[in-house]
Parts: sequence; structure tokens; C-alpha cells
Amino acid sequence: MQILVLNRGSSSVKLSLYDFKAAPKEPIAPHWEDKIEWKNVWDQGSIEKELSAKLKDKRFDCIGHRVVHGGRKYQKSTLINKEVKEEIRKLADLAPLHNLADLEGIEIFEKLFPKCPQVAVFDTAFHHTMAPEAIVYPGPYEWFEKGIQKYGFHGTSFQYCTKRAQHLLKKLPEKMVICHLGSGASLCAVKNGKSIDTTMGFTPLDGLMMDTRSGNVDPGILLHLLKTQSVEDLSTDLYEKSGLLGLSGISSDMRDVLEASVTNPRAKLSLDVYLHRLCSMIGSMIGSLNGIDTLVFTAGIGENSTYIQDEVCKRLCFLGIHLKKQRDKGIISSPDSKVTVLLIHTQEAFEIALQTFEQMG
Ligand code: ADP
Repeated sequence: MQILVLNRGSSSVKLSLYDFKAAPKEPIAPHWEDKIEWKNVWDQGSIEKELSAKLKDKRFDCIGHRVVHGGRKYQKSTLINKEVKEEIRKLADLAPLHNLADLEGIEIFEKLFPKCPQVAVFDTAFHHTMAPEAIVYPGPYEWFEKGIQKYGFHGTSFQYCTKRAQHLLKKLPEKMVICHLGSGASLCAVKNGKSIDTTMGFTPLDGLMMDTRSGNVDPGILLHLLKTQSVEDLSTDLYEKSGLLGLSGISSDMRDVLEASVTNPRAKLSLDVYLHRLCSMIGSMIGSLNGIDTLVFTAGIGENSTYIQDEVCKRLCFLGIHLKKQRDKGIISSPDSKVTVLLIHTQEAFEIALQTFEQMG
């Protein structure tokens, strides 16, 4: 089966084509990849043209879409029909920045390839196993009745890493914390393969400090700022002018911040705040799990920055974590470490392809 995967990020849409004869036991690479740059809104006409040109020689049997928000309803991926599209549209009330763009993508493909079945793979689905005490915010109960709760995101990555950890360790870890540290970043506490807590919340703005997103801040600050600032401006500040970029004033890319931190005090501060928050939130995930036996680093920063891996493990040394000096992907902790540390190259597109394949039966 030829599966086309669409993975929409904040600045581009990645297209990947996979060929599965059966569900692969090991991750495989797509046999074709390409991407289209975009800026938060689909310019319908030009994107349609670009897609048609890129896909004109390609044959595929189905399409898997990454959809950011599945709300309470979608606990796993699902074949897209009129009703599912309507639900995704309704969920745009909860995630206007994401779901409308995802829906537009689905509709463009419907128009270009009307006979091709499409599957929605939700970023929130992996977290449906979280207990009420983990998802309910302690505001007025009406919030929860209106759908305001912790949903969590990066679910496809966490799901992929959980399966990969099981494969590498030849057993499912009991108490695992996964650190997805990319441009966006979040942690997940996974107990016996199920998400029980995560740092992103109602929106992907919560939790860890990220590239340009603030992560969690005292809500009182927002009330204070809203006396003199519009909601739109505050939203831009929180999503686009905060995080590594906001504090360093240099870059949203961790590589630049790491390099500049040697001489530039604001870059150093930015890095220190990043690490402080990362370690304190790993602690919070460990609290939810009542312990930890496995720690996973994944995504751009998690996989590639030995500095961040070293600093996190140094700060958590009271847990008996020891890293190998030489490290590659896989197990990077030394045999005497009390916590197994894994470095996993997350493959969200492959996971979307796999879930699409499973949905197609
Ligand atoms: P996205 O969420 O956009 O898919 P990625 O998972 O690709 O993001 O992560 C992107 C981030 O990874 C970049 O912004 C960069 O800061 C970081 N990164 C990539 N390579 C390295 C590296 N060698 N050291 C530190 N950070 C890195």
C-alpha cells in the first residue's frame, strides 16, 4: 500500500510517501519526501498548484493527515468522512490556530484526489488515558463542562517513542518520562505504555519553554498585561516573541543560543531558564509516575544536543543516572545507571503512515 503522509508544521508542510506491504516491525524511511513552505495560512490557489505539480507522477492509495486537536471525541486515528470533518471544524473553537488549517489541508486533497481515502491522526489521541485529576484545571467547574481541560499534544511522537523504547529494551518500561525537545517541546509521563501526564495543556502553549513560545507563566501576569495590551498582541508575544528567542534576543534556534551563551549574558540566561524549567518539569512527571525507570530524549534538541542531555542528567544525578561517554542512538546510560536513558530519533511521519495503514485495514 502506498501511503502519502502530510505533516503540517508552523512553517512548512512535509510530504512523505511510504510503501507498506504489511505493518513494518522496524521503522522504515519514506521512498519519497518533499515539502511546501507556508506561512500559517494556506494560499489555496498556489498550494493546490504546487501540490498537483509535486504529486503528478506519484501513485498513492490513501493519505494520512496529522491533525492537531481531536478533542475528547477522538481517542485514536480515524477515517475522514463528512461527520469527522464537521467535528474537526467544531474543535476549531478549542484550537483555532491549528484545526482550521488542518481542515483546509484535508479539503484541498479531497478536491485534488476525490477518490483517495484520508485518515486523520490526532496529536491529542495518545493522551486520552490521562485520569481526571491530571486533566481538570482547578478553575470554576464550568470550564471543564465547556471542554477546557488538559489535552496534551505531540501524541504521535510519544506513541512512536513508547513503541521504540519497548523494542529497544525488549519490554515495556513501567515508569518512563519522554522529553520531546524540538521547536515545540513537551514531556510525557508514560506508565506501562499509557500517557498519565504531560506538560502541554489546553493548548500547545503550556509547559516547557520552547523556541518562541513561553510555556507556562503565572496567569496573573496575563491579567496584568491585558490592562494595557490587546489579546492579539499578547498572543503574538506568547507564541512568537517568547521562549529562547524572547529571552536571548538572538535566535529561536538552540544551536545559536548554545553558541552565543559562552559570551552573551542574555543567551546564557535563556539557556539557564530552559534547563531549570526542563528539570523541574521532569521532576513533576516523576511525581505523577511515583518514580522513573526510563528517561527518553527525542526531537531536534533532545536527539542532537549532548550538552542538554548531559546537563539534565547531571542535575538529576540524585536519581542515580549515569551516561556513557560515547553515545549513539539507543541506550545512552551506562550499565550501572539506576535509570535507563534512551536517545530515540522520533519519526512522526512513519507513525502517521502506520496508523493510516492500520485504519485502512
Ligand atoms: P520541529 O518541532 O520543527 O519538527 P525539530 O524536532 O526538528 O523541530 O527541532 C528543531 C530544533 O532542534 C531547532 O530549532 C534547533 O534548535 C534544534 N537542534 C537541531 N540540532 C541541534 C543540535 N545539534 N544542538 C542543539 N539543538 C539542535
